[in-house]
Amino acid sequence: MISSAPPASVERLPVAPRIIPRAEHNISRDNISEHALKVLYRLRNAGYQAYLVGGSVRDLLLGREPKDFDVATNALPEQVRGLFRNCRLIGRRFRLAHVHFGPEIIEVATFRAHAHAGGGDARVVEEDGRILRDNVYGTIDEDVWRRDFTANALYYNIEDFSVVDYVGGVADIAAGRLRLIGDPLVRYREDPVRLLRAVRFAAKLGFRMHPDTEAPLHVLGELLDAISPSRLFEEMLKLFLGGTAVQSFELLRHYGLFSRLFPDVEEALAEEEGGFPKMLLVKALENTDRRLAEDKPVTPAFLLAALLWAPVQRRARQYQAQDHPPAQAAQLAQDDAISRQIARVAVPRRFTQMAREIWLLQHPLENRPPRAVLRTLMHPRFRAGYDFLLMRAEAGEAVREAADWWTEFQDASEGRRAEMIAALPKPPGGGRKRRGGRRRRHGGQGAPA
Ligand code: ATP
Ligand code: MG
Repeated sequence: MISSAPPASVERLPVAPRIIPRAEHNISRDNISEHALKVLYRLRNAGYQAYLVGGSVRDLLLGREPKDFDVATNALPEQVRGLFRNCRLIGRRFRLAHVHFGPEIIEVATFRAHAHAGGGDARVVEEDGRILRDNVYGTIDEDVWRRDFTANALYYNIEDFSVVDYVGGVADIAAGRLRLIGDPLVRYREDPVRLLRAVRFAAKLGFRMHPDTEAPLHVLGELLDAISPSRLFEEMLKLFLGGTAVQSFELLRHYGLFSRLFPDVEEALAEEEGGFPKMLLVKALENTDRRLAEDKPVTPAFLLAALLWAPVQRRARQYQAQDHPPAQAAQLAQDDAISRQIARVAVPRRFTQMAREIWLLQHPLENRPPRAVLRTLMHPRFRAGYDFLLMRAEAGEAVREAADWWTEFQDASEGRRAEMIAALPKPPGGGRKRRGGRRRRHGGQGAPA
């Protein structure tokens, strides 16, 4: 049920912010993207207020390099669009202006008021307290209260380069403390994704959570069931492709939140704790963090393949027990695992497809039927499939010999390759003549008959 009643929170009295002048903080314009500066200055020169806000201010204060720059202003979205030719307005739930500079997007948000009734359908609140739409505009001293954590609620003023702190964020950053603004139970209910954001920032920044911010994590996980699968996918990317995937994973499991996102994976982990599913998953997460640290590309497909590997194996064994032949059992198990997973976290098809290809390559990689070896090597996903095989070996699966074989084979001379293929054991029944009938086609999946 949707109503436009205000959430039951106390009307806030105006609070005087602490203003930290330029001389007393370390944020230098040298560390702010030129595009962000351009947006800030153009807004200011047009007579609007313009602040850098959110993660970029936090990261600059911490001496870290911001991932992106968000701007807050009193200009309305349409007014922002009027100032920039390269500007698009996006979002219904939360209307924003995106100013494009090549690949860089500066996100410009108009100040929001937090707990007002007015605005017609501009603010829509669910019965359970979730805010579905939030387009009631306001002033900076209203905007600050709808932000999530104190560390994320600091404003850098382009007018005089000061930092504006209404919530004690500067002190919390200095103390390495993650603290939700306002009443945590209310704030988590308004937007349960904040549960995941708490975990993400704790992992990424290495902050300790304030006890009041932390306690609800253990009990409110259920609220995540109301979040759309596509929003959960975005959040999953930030948790696992943000450079601190291992810590994020450990924290999610600690608070019982992982099972909300990946119920089948949780079940497989619970069943074989200490065994290879956990190892493989942690290896994949470590791998991702390492690659990001080295500025190498990463894909959610590889992680998805690792996450669902144990559930797929488990399900395939069940299908085999029901007398499905192995290849068919594997196929059915993959279909099951993926369709169940995307109902919760909407992983786009291009990634689920690639995860399938990685899985399908495991059989020929492991078993190396001589006639399929070259075809396997030429497969467009060979590299990902091979990396996955290596990871399985590292996680303790009995595929070390095969992994080492491929490591050598890839770089071997043609002569050596021929020798290596000749030395492979013939697959069981592989030499048998097919009597009559058509030859079975292998299809495009690299899977041997
Ligand atoms: P990152 O470094 O990952 O970009 P960030 O803090 O900038 O972290 P964003 O998701 O980019 O996070 O959001 C920008 C800012 O908008 C946040 O710092 C916070 O002030 C506010 N914000 C974003 N999402 C929420 C939310 N769900 N609830 C309240 N405030 C939010
Ligand atoms: Mg950001």
